[in-house]
Amino acid sequence: MLSKKQSRLALIKQLSPLLECPHCGQALKADDAGVSCPAGHRIDAAKQGQLFLLRKQPPETYTAALFAARTRVIQAGVYKALHEVLQEQLQDSRVIVDAGCGEGSHAEALQQGTIIGIDNAKAGIDAAAKRSDRHLWLMGDLADPPLVPQCADAVLNVLSPANYAAFARILKPGGLLIKVTPGPRYLQEIRDADGTEAGQPEPVTMPPSFALEETNHVHVTVDLPVDLRKEMLRMTPLTWHMEEEALVKAASTLSAVTIDLLVHRAVCKP
Ligand SMILES: [Zn+2]
Repeated sequence: MLSKKQSRLALIKQLSPLLECPHCGQALKADDAGVSCPAGHRIDAAKQGQLFLLRKQPPETYTAALFAARTRVIQAGVYKALHEVLQEQLQDSRVIVDAGCGEGSHAEALQQGTIIGIDNAKAGIDAAAKRSDRHLWLMGDLADPPLVPQCADAVLNVLSPANYAAFARILKPGGLLIKVTPGPRYLQEIRDADGTEAGQPEPVTMPPSFALEETNHVHVTVDLPVDLRKEMLRMTPLTWHMEEEALVKAASTLSAVTIDLLVHRAVCKP
């Protein structure tokens, strides 16, 4: 029986042929403590097996508290309808890269495939790795992911900016891009509580390297138990400017929330 740490190092070893050195772009090779490249750059795995494959650490914008709130909300099933669509869309994909995975709960809801979650937020990757040892969690540059070309069957990009050139580089020809964007009524109740006008979401325009095949619309209103309402407000940047008192007041009436999302499915052209 492998210890937790051993099993995490085994996962790094298994997936290391897909990893690229963030400093020089050469192949990374796994050893007993982490990974290294032929030029001598070495990166030790962190305590929970996560790897920091960034040239330099960006300033933290999202806090551990925001990610903890997100984990509670997502794991409570608020995004269940989205997860069912993702599960269906990705059922035939073997290696899935979640680009902009945050704290990893959307990726973790998938029941199949080998998942590599990448984000440049350390608090997100730390939270993902602490919770889940089924997948590999990387802190990496989303514009230049530390992955070898054409390693992924699918890229998942949930409510996070897209780097299409990077996606095209890491996807196999014919590989899938599943991109999730907010619909017009996404989290409408929170906007109402805050008095923010809902801006029309930007239409998704993909570069010629991708062929958009279909867009699924997920639109459900989810009841929120009392103990989840404050977390729901805390997990979104929409309420960052709100004082605690205003947040508590808004939470008291937030009995439901609209999950309105567009799931775009595109194929990477060979
Ligand atoms: Zn290197």
